[in-house]
Amino acid sequence: MADQTPSLDEFRAEVTTFLRTHAPLKAAARDFTWGEGPDNASLFREPDRAEEAVELAAAKAWRAMRFDAHLGWICGPLDLGGRALPHAYERAYNELEAHYDVPNQSYFGIGLGMVAPTINDHAQNSVRQTLLPRLWRGDLIACQLFSEPVAGSDLAGLQTKADRDGDEWVITGQKVWTSGAHYSDVGEVICRTDPNQPKHRGLTCFVVDMHDPNIEVRPLRQMTGGAEFNEVFFNEYRVHDDQRLGEINDGWRVALTTLMNERASIGAGGSGASSGFTRLREMVRHFGLAHDAVIRQELLRIYTEQKVLDLTTQRAMDRMKAGALPGPELSIAKLALTETMRKTSAFVSRVLGPRLVADSGEWGTYSWSGYVLGMPAMAIAGGSDETLRNIVGERVLGLPKEPGIDSVSPFKDIPRNGVMGR
Ligand SMILES: Cc1cc2nc3c(=O)[nH]c(=O)nc-3n(C[C@H](O)[C@H](O)[C@H](O)COP(=O)(O)OP(=O)(O)OC[C@H]3O[C@@H](n4cnc5c(N)ncnc54)[C@H](O)[C@@H]3O)c2cc1C
Repeated sequence: MADQTPSLDEFRAEVTTFLRTHAPLKAAARDFTWGEGPDNASLFREPDRAEEAVELAAAKAWRAMRFDAHLGWICGPLDLGGRALPHAYERAYNELEAHYDVPNQSYFGIGLGMVAPTINDHAQNSVRQTLLPRLWRGDLIACQLFSEPVAGSDLAGLQTKADRDGDEWVITGQKVWTSGAHYSDVGEVICRTDPNQPKHRGLTCFVVDMHDPNIEVRPLRQMTGGAEFNEVFFNEYRVHDDQRLGEINDGWRVALTTLMNERASIGAGGSGASSGFTRLREMVRHFGLAHDAVIRQELLRIYTEQKVLDLTTQRAMDRMKAGALPGPELSIAKLALTETMRKTSAFVSRVLGPRLVADSGEWGTYSWSGYVLGMPAMAIAGGSDETLRNIVGERVLGLPKEPGIDSVSPFKDIPRNGVMGR
């Protein structure tokens, strides 16, 4: 088998042929001209449902084409449709694909970035074999059902329960902020299975069928106008025990796999603003501020922070891909990401002033409102700034643990909102 492994150069040539055959080249960043091309600076894509259906079909078709050309799961095992190549090959693919105009792949971010690695590590082999090739081919999309109305930062305080009934579990409760639940086929849910244990124990994860009638998905409208999040209600939904991830009551460990991969995926996406830096620079030129010393200094600071962030993230990702466990450096990278975005948000607000709040039709101005309004969500998703600072304080600086966290009493005896845990 070893002699069949292509060299990186051979692989790049193969990928280039595939991409050239199936996708147009993107206009290079240096060709950016103010006032031309798509006018979108939003952090979150928020198509309406009709646009979303068209995009989703194109996104799925692209993933299927990649998978069928043996380029869909580059590092995955051969028996599940992967190519079993080292991570450098996957990076090479991503670098090359970034030059081509391919359908929006963000629909697969949570499924492939977070849920699939968890299924790979913790599901029974039959579930891995059924789900992983279909997830990587884009036939299925997965969502993450963790947060609840009173359990976000304090995820271990969750109250959705799963009761054992023979070979099945009956799940009852409510999840919230579930991105993409409305177009997902499967979900990873974490439930309380033993309220007599302390809150981080007594939890169990399952893979659930999002099309089941006992799972109800209700969209939530955001201040940006989109409806990417959902409330998800489990109304005595039944799941077979073979869909369990990990051991009974060991769901916290399973969830940590997902959460570490979440931070890694958010980090791997880079600053978002990084790719838009040319746009930012040209905006400054367009409004005649290129010689304003303060503006220049602020712009340079954003550029420098983006570069440092991208390199820090790359270092953390390389360590992970070389087999190391994700460390607290990902929390630092996520904090740095939101800090850079916060600065970018303040910078465009300063440059654009009232143009940011009133849509005059002028190119490259009001479109930044989607960035400024979306930015606060980035300081919450994947761990809020405060939560990440606690992690850095405790795990990097070695400060004492936050007082007041009861990790000893049975969950049912911990008062929550004036009532006991269950
Ligand atoms: C863009 C986006 C996508 C998301 N997608 C998903 C998804 O797909 N699936 C899913 O399950 N969830 C998702 N979430 C939810 C997300 O995980 C939670 O919003 C997050 O964990 C915070 O929880 P919360 O909203 O309940 O806020 P809370 O935990 O109630 O926090 C409120 C405020 O209090 C602060 N705070 C809380 N505890 C402490 C503390 N101990 N010390 C100091 N400050 C503290 C927080 O930092 C925050 O500022 C998403 C959120 C966003 C913004």
